[in-house]
Amino acid sequence: MTDRTFNFSAGPAVLPEEVLREAQEALWDLEGSGIGILEHSHRGGPFDRVIAEAEADCRSLAGIPEDYAVLFLQGGASTQFAMLPANFLPDSGTADYWLTGSWSKKALKEAQHYAGRAGVHVAASSEATGFDRIPRQDEAQASEAPVYVHFTSNNTIVGTQFQSEPEVPASAWLACDASSDLFSRPIDPTRYGLLYAGAQKNLGPAGVTLVILRRELLECQVRALPTMLRYATHAEKGSRFNTPPTFGIYVMGRVFKWIQAQGGLAAMARRNQEKAELLYQCLEDLDFYHCTAGEGSRSLMNVTFRTPSPELDERFVAEASQQGLAGLKGHRSVGGMRASIYNAFPRAGCEALAAFLRDFASHNG
Ligand SMILES: *Cc1c(COP(=O)(O)O)cnc(C)c1O
Repeated sequence: MTDRTFNFSAGPAVLPEEVLREAQEALWDLEGSGIGILEHSHRGGPFDRVIAEAEADCRSLAGIPEDYAVLFLQGGASTQFAMLPANFLPDSGTADYWLTGSWSKKALKEAQHYAGRAGVHVAASSEATGFDRIPRQDEAQASEAPVYVHFTSNNTIVGTQFQSEPEVPASAWLACDASSDLFSRPIDPTRYGLLYAGAQKNLGPAGVTLVILRRELLECQVRALPTMLRYATHAEKGSRFNTPPTFGIYVMGRVFKWIQAQGGLAAMARRNQEKAELLYQCLEDLDFYHCTAGEGSRSLMNVTFRTPSPELDERFVAEASQQGLAGLKGHRSVGGMRASIYNAFPRAGCEALAAFLRDFASHNG
């Protein structure tokens, strides 16, 4: 069906073609209302249905119970880096952060604005080895009584991913930046106090951020904050305290339906596993490339690798792009290559990349 370029971009990233077609129609006319989704009031009946359905589909997809709030916010995951500690980290307390890449470092930096004298505690880190892996649980050291434990489930830049959640001391709840792998596999939301994800990797367009949080926590806000920065504001107003990112919410809702139609999160996980396996196996077999993420930590979402030299890396990216394989250049902070293969990325694109990997190695090896 596709004459589109295989888009390996890390984000904004590929969306399901079916969803793009639906969105195209909805731009013109949302469900026979005669008005497009971009033009509807965020308080009118048609949008009432859009946001209610998006929330309901999100809940059924991941089994999110009623004692959790599902919020559609703005400001990206980067705003969550600050909102989380601003709401929940008291001057007198601390939180534990797992440092596994530049996004978790940024999250830590924002928390440091709020931590008191105790500071924020780094429970585990792989920074000394360039964030090449996820630290093991037995390498982690919890602080005395953290309020929460924060981790980045998938490290988009270096291409590492937690295989399971870190352990949480009795005093604490779990907070997670799941921007680049939420709903790529089954998840038990009840293990978390708060989960957040910018949509533009795996869930929809840039401009909307999904936050899932245990309602109980809304009673635990530790300081006075501007209205827009309080989770309670958005929970009380059903994400409509002010004008929400209506189009982003619409598309995210369609993506949830698309995932359901594919068989849900378990089916997504199976497909993602197969796609990633295909690439890692090819990279290992060829003995020309180097996978930059340690075995046991490798991401199913972002496959990072290098050729023997930066010059060849550059040629690889340029030639791949000429062959319709776009967006393979690694993040500017780490170089090399990165193939982002989120939920909506087709298996055929992984097969095309595997063929190109073999071809390039045989011509340059
Ligand atoms: C992309 C990304 C971010 C930043 O998201 P914004 O929406 O641009 O703020 C944060 N964390 C992770 C893991 C990411 O992949």
